[in-house]
Amino acid sequence: MFNLRKDILANRVILVTGAGDGIGKEAAVSFAEHGAQVILLGRTIKKLEKVYDQICQIGAQEPAIVQLDLETLDEATSEQLKETIQDNYGKLDVLLHNAAILGTRVPLENYDSKEWASVIQTNLTSVFVLTKALLPLLKKSVDGRIIFTNSSVGKTPRAYWGAYSVSKFALTGFAKILSEELENTAKVVVTSVNPGATRTSMRRSAYPGEDPRKIKNVKTLMPLYLYLAGPDSKHEHGKEFSGNQQTWDWANRIKGPR
Ligand code: NAP
Repeated sequence: MFNLRKDILANRVILVTGAGDGIGKEAAVSFAEHGAQVILLGRTIKKLEKVYDQICQIGAQEPAIVQLDLETLDEATSEQLKETIQDNYGKLDVLLHNAAILGTRVPLENYDSKEWASVIQTNLTSVFVLTKALLPLLKKSVDGRIIFTNSSVGKTPRAYWGAYSVSKFALTGFAKILSEELENTAKVVVTSVNPGATRTSMRRSAYPGEDPRKIKNVKTLMPLYLYLAGPDSKHEHGKEFSGNQQTWDWANRIKGPR
């Protein structure tokens, strides 16, 4: 679809959460296709294995699979993951926080508290725990990146979107705090992406009556993700990006020879 520099992510080790489906899956394949060593983190092993096969089939570097449920992620498990990445690669260059769940859309007064806890743990607390554990490895990279995945309902409150909206609001704050803390201390660039309406399972469950053909394909987001994961985004620290805009602009920044 786009003619981008094939080696733009060469020698980069990239962990993608929620790599088994949707945007995370497409990003993982795209990162691998552009030279990265990808670590596929997700909860459904069959989906991760399919992504693994897809990456091997295009002749990219063999990815690693980490089956992990972010809903039950604790510090001990995150530390183990850090040790494994340290032993195998010695560093982490990019952490893409992508996994999330939607939860139900009901008024707050009817919101189930178990579901509330589940959404907040998956979309927010696991992001904190993972970031905390993996930051030392990201600081070992000469050009580290943390990419958060936000949403329009993390900017403008929307009735009935409950814990999902609250988790994304909190992520906006988390990314801002982290970017300020890392401003003068590390070479880790922190950015956030709001993908905007994108044709995935999550979008289908949020808007079941919508015609999916009118919603953009995940592939159109990839120039932006590649740009943010790659060497050209050094100066983007603390910024937020919309997946609905400027696809060709990102593609032009990292395009390869014809
Ligand atoms: P998706 O198709 O539902 O994919 C989400 C991925 O996250 C799946 O692979 C899922 O695993 C994984 N995941 C969920 N809970 C997990 C857990 N507890 N542990 C490990 N992995 C878990 O969603 P998407 O549309 O690609 O969304 C990706 C990101 O973009 C999310 O942060 C979402 O909030 C954001 N976003 C999406 C849109 C959109 O229109 N699609 C718009 C704005 C923001 P399973 O496959 O095993 O369930």
